[in-house]
Amino acid sequence: MNEDFKALLGEAVRFHGHLCGGQVIGVRMAMAGLRELGIKEPRGKEGRDLVIFVEIDRCPVDAIIAVTGRTPGRRSIKMMDYGKQAATFVDAGASRAVRVSVKTGCFEKAALIARTLAGFQDEQQALYEALAAMDEEELLSIRRVSVAIEPRDLPGEALQTVVCQKCGETVKDMRQVGGNGLILCKPCALGLCYYKEIPSETDA
Ligand SMILES: [Zn+2]
Ligand SMILES: [Zn+2]
Repeated sequence: MNEDFKALLGEAVRFHGHLCGGQVIGVRMAMAGLRELGIKEPRGKEGRDLVIFVEIDRCPVDAIIAVTGRTPGRRSIKMMDYGKQAATFVDAGASRAVRVSVKTGCFEKAALIARTLAGFQDEQQALYEALAAMDEEELLSIRRVSVAIEPRDLPGEALQTVVCQKCGETVKDMRQVGGNGLILCKPCALGLCYYKEIPSETDA
């Protein structure tokens, strides 16, 4: 592992809480994405308009956040729930984007490489080293893509704030649903929600 990679992996492990294959792969994905966009200092000026779409909610995402400094709270990490080990790095200012995806079968290849490595305490360590050392073409697929980010999805001030006419809660960034003369939040409009209300004792 070279020193730059080691330092970034260290930051990822600190943020994520453990060393795993996902951290090694996530750091490699982030380094590839930044390199392709010509961004050396993601936390500096040249990374100002960097937005990353991640396609899985697993380990590599934390590595990508740690390396790039992007966060969901600043709207610069977009969670796309595809269950795929891929991320698209978008320089929204320059309208350039690159999608980096993990190649199928790379873990098997890494396991083969790991068997040839000597001097590691255990199989896992050797596997991480193999994932870190294997050729990028074996690990990642990198493609230019185009991404149109809606103004309502960009970092910055909320474009609009409304109040749902059913539940009375505030809805930001044009996530409301209109129609029939009503402005409603999505749960009220669609009748679909990830939680169910539990009646409190005072309601009974
Ligand atoms: Zn992990
Ligand atoms: Zn509502």
